[in-house]
Amino acid sequence: MGKIMTRCPQTGRSIETGMEMDAERFQRTPVFFSRAYCPHCRIYHEWFAAHAWVEETRDRERIALA
Ligand SMILES: [Zn+2]
Repeated sequence: MGKIMTRCPQTGRSIETGMEMDAERFQRTPVFFSRAYCPHCRIYHEWFAAHAWVEETRDRERIALA
């Protein structure tokens, strides 16, 4: 499982969409759009699956342990 991330159109910083999915499953998911709260702008941004990616939590844990 990984966190679905997208990019803030205002600041260009990555934001968490609050959704979690396997990277493989995410790639098979048909295009959709949703909204994510942006902590940088303090508003909701609409985002498209095409502009999002999956950040694997496993990788982060490995880095944290290193
Ligand atoms: Zn933003």
